[in-house]
Amino acid sequence: MNNDTTTARATHDWQALDSRHHLHPFTDFQALAGEGARIITRAEGVYLYDSDGRRILDGMSGLWCVNIGYGRAELAEAAARQMRELPYYNSFFKSTNPPAVELAAVLAGLTPPQFNHVFFTNSGSEANDTIVRMVRRYWDLLGEPRRSVLISRHNAYHGSTLGGASLGGMAAMHGQGGLPIPDIVHIEQPYWFENGIDVTPEDYGRRAAQRLAEKIEELGPERVGAFIGEPIQGAGGVIIPPDSYWPEIQRICREYGILLITDEVVCGFGRTGRWFGCEYYGLEPDFLTIAKGLTSGYQPLGGVMVSDRVAEVLIGRGGEFHHGFTWSGHPVACAVALANLRILQAERLVERVRDEIGPYLQRRWRELADHPLVGEVRGIGMLGALELVAHKGSRTFFRDRGAAGTRCRDHCFRNGLVMRAVRDTMIVAPPFVITTAEVDELIARARHCLDLTATDLGIG
Ligand SMILES: *Cc1c(COP(=O)(O)O)cnc(C)c1O
Repeated sequence: MNNDTTTARATHDWQALDSRHHLHPFTDFQALAGEGARIITRAEGVYLYDSDGRRILDGMSGLWCVNIGYGRAELAEAAARQMRELPYYNSFFKSTNPPAVELAAVLAGLTPPQFNHVFFTNSGSEANDTIVRMVRRYWDLLGEPRRSVLISRHNAYHGSTLGGASLGGMAAMHGQGGLPIPDIVHIEQPYWFENGIDVTPEDYGRRAAQRLAEKIEELGPERVGAFIGEPIQGAGGVIIPPDSYWPEIQRICREYGILLITDEVVCGFGRTGRWFGCEYYGLEPDFLTIAKGLTSGYQPLGGVMVSDRVAEVLIGRGGEFHHGFTWSGHPVACAVALANLRILQAERLVERVRDEIGPYLQRRWRELADHPLVGEVRGIGMLGALELVAHKGSRTFFRDRGAAGTRCRDHCFRNGLVMRAVRDTMIVAPPFVITTAEVDELIARARHCLDLTATDLGIG
């Protein structure tokens, strides 16, 4: 298939039709209608192609998910084979299907030892909704129904359903539609660059973790059921907590006997160079939220990994769990996930992130620290962030927060690079299959777009 000859006129027609009928997620509908959407028509490796034939290096793996890169025929074949064999059957009425069974067993093997059960969903949001219900059910079954409170962090991202958006700490999302739902509360995020101006990262990490103990005491320890966090916050701006943070959080969860949930939707399946973010930080969570990288985005699929501690209660103390989705354990999505995990293992892509391409990306990414706009560079594995600041050498944010980031992001799109802006934090999360030459291209384009942004702002 060759779309390179698609005319500008065709693009315009797509855009007109799109703006007439299609409401996009996380979008100002009216603003987009004025501008017209970018029409992505195909992709190969780490490159996207739009309807004008432009080639764009996808520095974000779609939305943190296309870890094995675009165009992998094995996944297309797995889907086609499964569709011919059994396109769908539900898992509700004492039924199951081979790909769902196989995938559940593979996940039990890949995840840390305390995980031997999975509940399938279609997305990360649904997985987090499922966790809210499971946490409350767990404490109910143990005769402690008052332990219904889940504690999360400000600026966390846990999805966009009512439960997911409530667990998340995005103020703009809470501002629309009466969120959060009851008994979900938030504490400070471990964002040293913004909140730790007066202390070392290590001291700040302990202080940020102490907020959890303070909140538990404030609410009453008999009210708190669980704490949830992304090992590294993704959508919040690739916020990497100081090393002192997670061990202290784990200690506090144990001290109060509350469940620990790591939302692995971004970190899971290798992005940090370990299979799961909880392994990177040496944590022993009771739940994992999984989605995105589980299928490398080739099919919608999410899930909840349930630890033995919780599974014993949910299974052993029994009764029906009144929860599930039509597509839970969808055979096509599960077959594609199996093919994706086989590629991650056969091509040793997680090891590649840990030992080769991750270190290379991090070394080259850190070279951007000398740029006049950049106040901090951070990253782990295939995650990177740049903090744009008004005055180099200080942590002075721009007065109009987000404007510089938006400018930089727009320059990137025009110059063939997807780099995302969260406020004035520029972030990347490239596919694991990116080559060193493609990393070089990513860095060169990022630097060029930082230059263009600095010129716009009269800096440098
Ligand atoms: C994307 C994301 C989710 C939500 O996943 P969806 O599949 O979009 O519902 C949840 N948690 C984290 C950490 C995410 O990045």
